[in-house]
Amino acid sequence: MDLNFSPDELAFRAEVRAFVAAHLPDDIRDRVRRGDESQVADDLRRWQEILHAHGWGAVMWPREFGGTGWDKTRQYLFEIECAAADAPIQLPFGLKMVAPVIMRYGTPAQQQRFLPRILDGSDWWCQGYSEPGSGSDLASLKTRAERDGDHYVVNGQKAWNTLGQHAGWIFCLVRTDPAAKPQRGISFLLIDMRTPGIRLQPTRLLDGGHEVNEVFFDNVRVPVKNLVGEENAGWTCAKFLLGHERTNIAGIGASRRELARLRRMAGEAGRNGAPLADNPVFASRIAQVALELRALEVTNLRVIFGEARQQAPGPEASMLKIRGTEILQRITELQVEALGARALEYEGDGEDVPRAVGHYMNLRKLSIYGGSNEIQRNIIAQMVLQL
Ligand SMILES: Cc1cc2nc3c(=O)[nH]c(=O)nc-3n(C[C@H](O)[C@H](O)[C@H](O)COP(=O)(O)OP(=O)(O)OC[C@H]3O[C@@H](n4cnc5c(N)ncnc54)[C@H](O)[C@@H]3O)c2cc1C
Repeated sequence: MDLNFSPDELAFRAEVRAFVAAHLPDDIRDRVRRGDESQVADDLRRWQEILHAHGWGAVMWPREFGGTGWDKTRQYLFEIECAAADAPIQLPFGLKMVAPVIMRYGTPAQQQRFLPRILDGSDWWCQGYSEPGSGSDLASLKTRAERDGDHYVVNGQKAWNTLGQHAGWIFCLVRTDPAAKPQRGISFLLIDMRTPGIRLQPTRLLDGGHEVNEVFFDNVRVPVKNLVGEENAGWTCAKFLLGHERTNIAGIGASRRELARLRRMAGEAGRNGAPLADNPVFASRIAQVALELRALEVTNLRVIFGEARQQAPGPEASMLKIRGTEILQRITELQVEALGARALEYEGDGEDVPRAVGHYMNLRKLSIYGGSNEIQRNIIAQMVLQL
């Protein structure tokens, strides 16, 4: 298999690089570089508006809905270049999760109402899947939705809701038939976060940030027209969405950027007057993770080029998720080691010292969300090893 990019693809990569260099605002780039999330909502919205104005708002959508229609290779190159330039990520919940579900299972009215507002950044979406006790075992979820005329009345609680404090909308899995088998009694609802009866409570994380919430629903009235697909057939939407959640999860762009940062940190950090990069043991640990990243990159390209030939992504997505998250976590561990005792200075000069420990702690989440790595290993055991 030829894993080289074609001349067309290389020209495309150069075009993306030039665009991002010219259009990513300096203040946003600086905040992403420093890991400063104080204006995250504003930064993400502004970047989405800039991309949308250029026609690149939804790089993974088909053209008929206003996307670029790019193939997986171009999407990959776009993500790599954006990460390398310290552009903010595009939040997945609207663009990569609920939008494909609305395109596939939504009514034309839902498509016309919701998709353009995701594309131009007017609507911020969040995900209401997990509940206390229903994370990996999602089908056991208990949040109820009972029909009352042309509304559902929703009661229950969602957990681990990422950045919902900025969201106007939440897509939720709710139980509409408690008597049916778990997977058969679930529906997929689109809920306006401003509806009376919704309350958010922040969940503080290890790094001290307010990134996730608990969401409580107390007699929340949701119009039946906000049901996607058939009542009680929401599990089909849920699985379709989770397939999308795991694409591009290898995080090659972020790992490459953090590896470059690690190399720089090791080049600067002093141990007995010499940079740590000159220490053969530390240098070999950096080389090891760099090799693992390169191997992952090649595997990722094999999957992408396989998809270009119309092979559906299967357990490969689980493989990429496990290795990608392990590698990025490893790089952040080495960053903290590279700083040594300086990593404990929570307030420091430069972009590395205040960021490294918080970033290290925050990224422990990678092997949990998007389907925990243990669950991904189960998928590989069943689908690849046939155990
Ligand atoms: C930072 C963060 C952000 C998140 N954002 C969102 C969000 O926006 N929206 C949302 O809906 N959810 C979100 N999640 C939830 C996430 O998807 C769940 O945490 C995840 O599915 C794991 O579920 P759980 O936490 O209930 O753990 P559990 O399912 O209770 O698992 C606990 C441990 O047991 C292991 N385990 C469980 N079952 C098995 C099994 N069958 N075999 C082997 N091991 C098993 C797990 O891998 C894990 O290590 C987020 C989570 C985090 C940490």
